[in-house]
Amino acid sequence: MKGGFPKAARGALANSQLRRNIGHATSTIRAKRARVVGEVDDWEALRDAGAEIKERTLRHLDVHLERLEEAVTRAGGTVHWARDGAEACAVVADVARAHDSREVIKVKSLATDEIELNEALERAGVHAVETDLAELIIQLDDDSQSHILVPAIHRNRAEIAQIFRRELGAEVSDEPDDLTAAARAHLREKFLSVKVGVSGANFAVAETGHVVVVESEGNGRMCTTLPEVLVSVVGIEKVLPRFSDLEVLLQLLPRSSTGERMNPYTSIWSGVSDGDGPREFHLVLLDGGRTDVLADEVGRAALRCIRCSACLNVCPVYERTGGHAYESIYPGPIGAILTPQLRGLDNAPTLPWASSLCGACYEVCPVKIDIPSILVHLRGRVVRETKAEGLSERAAMGAMARVFASRRTYEAAQRMAKLGRGPLANAALRPWTRSRELPAVPDQTFRDWWRSR
Ligand code: SF4
Repeated sequence: MKGGFPKAARGALANSQLRRNIGHATSTIRAKRARVVGEVDDWEALRDAGAEIKERTLRHLDVHLERLEEAVTRAGGTVHWARDGAEACAVVADVARAHDSREVIKVKSLATDEIELNEALERAGVHAVETDLAELIIQLDDDSQSHILVPAIHRNRAEIAQIFRRELGAEVSDEPDDLTAAARAHLREKFLSVKVGVSGANFAVAETGHVVVVESEGNGRMCTTLPEVLVSVVGIEKVLPRFSDLEVLLQLLPRSSTGERMNPYTSIWSGVSDGDGPREFHLVLLDGGRTDVLADEVGRAALRCIRCSACLNVCPVYERTGGHAYESIYPGPIGAILTPQLRGLDNAPTLPWASSLCGACYEVCPVKIDIPSILVHLRGRVVRETKAEGLSERAAMGAMARVFASRRTYEAAQRMAKLGRGPLANAALRPWTRSRELPAVPDQTFRDWWRSR
């Protein structure tokens, strides 16, 4: 972590243009999602089914992953197991080198962003070309993404037009048609000439070895079908036991993410087939801290996430700070529970506090991840297990524990509180009390009242 969420959030809050851009974008997606979810009579039953499928899969993840490996191999693909990002990046770089390719074309993929694949490839002499429009904007501007689904959500049309004029030399207005035409002209040549494609995956089916990519622009379809070689980097939690599980999850995902009944492009493939698509397929199964997350009985529910981003779009904290304040590829409520677990609590100790615990994220989550409960659980773990400094919670709860430990101290604290000098008036606790409204201390305590009778 660079400076932690509180510091980064303060900087973001000072940027009013960012708040306007994000407020506008999230309220638009929220309304779209509410409309299409409202059309589904059995939405709650679908959420239950989605949660159940993912939970059941996580309980026997090892079995499903081995079945997936067998099925992909049977279909002519090659499976690589990567313990961490470095191993996964090395596989992709080796494949590119083996095909003498100095460039790869990429489908938008959080897993590859998580392992910083582009940077690793660059060091290996291979340039990764992002083909998703928003990812391309971020790459051209040397910026970082701030939303799971809409990585350039912090940019408005006028800013994007400026980037295209500067970086692509394109004469464009800020009309969406103009902007997409400029991106298309830039990317088309890459689609037709680059030999290696790289993708992530939304799901991978153990039963059949199918890999699934869901997207809106068609660039994913191009990257997974046109190159000679395809490498898909997939987190191990993306496995589903049966092909029929897609029936549930492909209903939940588009409605929750883009607010559409169905996403425009769903690409599903298994291995390689003669005369159709890539001649070589590699599946990289990435652990990257996920088995550590599995070991936490409460925190592991974060691995159910299907990266729809609905929790970001309803979060009052995300709406005001934007994604960069989370200093992670996973921002918003899911980032606040996933990043500290993947990176280790010591490396992101402030993120579990990046929430008001209002519960809006839980209400919209299509796989019913109880994010507020996990946040509280992780706060406890950070206080107990790390040496993170400046945690006002640790000081506040320590002071309260001492007060509640004996009747005498408790009553003394009540008397002091009446004089405005109770334990919470301590200067060391100011970071905790500054952001909380404490109730006024009554003239007479319950104990005084009881004794007077
Ligand atoms: S936690 Fe739930 S709502 Fe948030 S991105 Fe993941 S699946 Fe979507």
